Amino acid sequence: MSSVVNPSKSEDPPSSSSSSSERRRIEQLPEDVVNRIAAGEVIHRPSSALKELLENSLDAQSTQIEIQLRDGGLKTLQISDNGSGILREDFPVVCRRHTTSKITKYSDLQEIPTFGFRGEALASVTHVARVSITSMTANQNCAYRASYRDGEIISKDPNRCEALPCAGVKGTQIRVEDMFYNVPIRLQALRSYSEEYNRCLDVVSNYAIHNTNVRFSCKKMGSSKNDINTMARGKSLENVKIAIRTIHGRKIAQEL
Ligand code: ADP
Ligand code: MG
Repeated sequence: MSSVVNPSKSEDPPSSSSSSSERRRIEQLPEDVVNRIAAGEVIHRPSSALKELLENSLDAQSTQIEIQLRDGGLKTLQISDNGSGILREDFPVVCRRHTTSKITKYSDLQEIPTFGFRGEALASVTHVARVSITSMTANQNCAYRASYRDGEIISKDPNRCEALPCAGVKGTQIRVEDMFYNVPIRLQALRSYSEEYNRCLDVVSNYAIHNTNVRFSCKKMGSSKNDINTMARGKSLENVKIAIRTIHGRKIAQEL
């Protein structure tokens, strides 16, 4: 009977999986490992990073969002918007985990009007890619720029980890480069640039259809041709149909 314990079993040599029958100790993982694991849960591929960055641009009341991608977004993913911008004083904290301008207390979660609020997206991207941010708010005289790694500003001068002034226009440009340079297993799993590019186009298309008050464009870096190019119109069902026609073609729009 199968329920009878076979005493000879205890004399079997231990299998390789339980070779050292001693239990391993429980240890605290190093912070960089924790952060990279957490980042992997938010950023699976270029299109998931793009989704987060698009939502940030929309949360910043942008009416124009331009996206350029190289190698399906794995080499470069750049998003430029004309939204509210990031204050120079906020640059040192903007890519840290759990920093957000969208909620300040738990009860704010009851009526949250924005896409994001957890303050994790930008932090996550900086744990798996090289990120630089250029941004200008309406009442600043110039733009500011900083590069980030693992949540913090990186600088040639360690005593000056701050955003530096530069030329720019109102809004924010975020450039993400070498995605998963430090997660080779993830990189191996994403071998087709064209598949990644198409996934990014799908994400942009979906947001463009639902946000007809915003102009969206998306192209391969260096190309003169936009693969998505919508106009900013009002928010109405008719304009949703126009956006669907622009993106998916007349035939699909007619079937609606
Ligand atoms: P969350 O969106 O959950 O707040 P994120 O990590 O995505 O967290 O962004 C952190 C903060 O950075 C946002 O709360 C916002 O203040 C600022 N931010 C990010 N992207 C932009 C942008 N494109 N324009 C203006 N502010 C931005
Ligand atoms: Mg966000």
